[in-house]
Amino acid sequence: MTAASAAGQGTAPRLVLATHNKGKLRELRELLRGQVPGLDVDTQVVDAAAAGAPDVVETGVTFAENSLLKARAVAEATGLVAIADDSGLAVDVMGGAPGIFSARWAGSHGDDAANLRLLLNQLSDVPDPHRGAAFVCAAALAVPAANGGAGREVVEYGQLEGVLLREPRGDGGFGYDPVLQPAGETRSCAELSADEKNAISHRGKAFRALLPAIVEALQHR
Ligand code: IMP
Repeated sequence: MTAASAAGQGTAPRLVLATHNKGKLRELRELLRGQVPGLDVDTQVVDAAAAGAPDVVETGVTFAENSLLKARAVAEATGLVAIADDSGLAVDVMGGAPGIFSARWAGSHGDDAANLRLLLNQLSDVPDPHRGAAFVCAAALAVPAANGGAGREVVEYGQLEGVLLREPRGDGGFGYDPVLQPAGETRSCAELSADEKNAISHRGKAFRALLPAIVEALQHR
């Protein structure tokens, strides 16, 4: 018997993160490391591809709906505890837009440079005191139904508040990072290190808020 199996550890996946983003998977593994007795985060916390989970179309109209849709579909398809997140930028003077449309604000999905340019143009006449915005994240947990009983679902939220700059600054990060300056910072998100960003990020906050429910779900499976 190996030390790992003696400690109750295995390698079969136990938790799926509904994403293809390796950065998000790394973040979740670090958050869970040492939190659940017997859970080997490097082999048992996996992404959608590793679990053979389907891609899910985001038909919801809120971050919470979309994160739940994804977590629920992956839990049903794999029979495993599943987590999903949905996030975006919410600009105060735009009533929360781009919101769920953040990834395709300029038309085509994932064109970060075009999204940024359009947003800065739209806000060019908005004075500094009114340039408040936040990255917002909903993180959902779906626990598949056991023995015909009802499944369990939990959603938690996180926000990273700040102001929108007039020009992009910094080479790090992705998406709208170069134009959001977190409250109390002099740098944009794209000028922070990955660790600095993760420590204050909307996703980090939402995942940390979900942690007790994740731990509880895994303890019973
Ligand atoms: P997703 O839900 O994490 O895929 O994010 C959707 C979109 O929101 C991304 O394509 C980005 O445009 C934007 N977004 C979400 N989180 C961040 C962030 O931390 N920095 C910059 N942009 C983000």
